[in-house]
Amino acid sequence: MKLLSVIVPVYNEEKMIPKAAAVISDILVKENINYELLFINDGSKDMSWPAITEECHKNPKVKGICFSRNFGKESAMFAGLECAEGDCAVIMDCDLQHPPEKIVEMYRIWQEGKYDLVEGVKSDRGQESFLHRFCAKAFYKIISRITKINMENASDFKLMDRKVIDVLTAMPERNVFFRALSSWIGFKSTQVTFEVREREEGVSKWSTWSLVKYAFSNIVSFSAAPMQIVTILGAGFFILAAILGVQSLIYKFIGKALAGFTTVIIIVLLLGSIMMISMGIIGYYISKMYEELKERPKYIIVQKLNENRNRTAE
Ligand code: UDP
Ligand code: MG
Repeated sequence: MKLLSVIVPVYNEEKMIPKAAAVISDILVKENINYELLFINDGSKDMSWPAITEECHKNPKVKGICFSRNFGKESAMFAGLECAEGDCAVIMDCDLQHPPEKIVEMYRIWQEGKYDLVEGVKSDRGQESFLHRFCAKAFYKIISRITKINMENASDFKLMDRKVIDVLTAMPERNVFFRALSSWIGFKSTQVTFEVREREEGVSKWSTWSLVKYAFSNIVSFSAAPMQIVTILGAGFFILAAILGVQSLIYKFIGKALAGFTTVIIIVLLLGSIMMISMGIIGYYISKMYEELKERPKYIIVQKLNENRNRTAE
């Protein structure tokens, strides 16, 4: 019988763990799907790990992986993929904003054997503030253009075949943007739309600032376009410099020296700031390269519960 791995990254979700475990297990048992449920504790500061431990004792199909500290959701997802034993795996949020019933729909599509990747696409973005919605839209517009994949309503809620999992886990890069990477690798894929639910317990882990950082880091990990912007700005300023230079020379020869202290100040300040921003952009790429070069692991696991239970139980 085929095995489905359900991967759930967890960060400070103590209240949601028992709910998620119960809801997901119930649905999959009812549908007669052989499953394993992996909770990856991404360095939670609350009682999430004891909650996961309890679920692991209650149900041998539940597996627990504990990180040494918070490594971020992308790392947690990759740890889940690396530890998953299933013939296919689905990734979903612990807050049940990704409707668990959709797992069954995705699984049935995968079972037909026509697709290796079943992507969950948001039919709406749920309740978000205006600023959040606007920034998310802008970010996805940019990233869709860069990757040439329409990602406007993309989510991490996806079902992947074993082939896809093996390709993804073999990727050596550390700064990964899962949503884009899973489309970038290709494979036959199809989409399933879902409505984002309200979060039942706890709060979103994303502040606006952390989203901005996340957006920038993902753009950088997929494209060198920001560096090209530096070149374009440089070219623009060269043209401006040429025009102004010719103008001042003409004024000098006709004896009408430029009385333009204000112009000088504006140009100096503008150039200074543009140069600093440009250096910042280049520095960011270098720092990312440095991070990759160090080849540190994406995450560090300190404890695993119910490891390899599912294969031997078969
Ligand atoms: N998460 C994680 N590590 C983090 C932040 C979040 O594993 O550093 C998990 C979190 O527990 C949840 C999922 O990622 O299962 C989505 O997080 P959240 O609901 O905060 O994001 P949002 O739905 O607001 O985008
Ligand atoms: Mg959420």
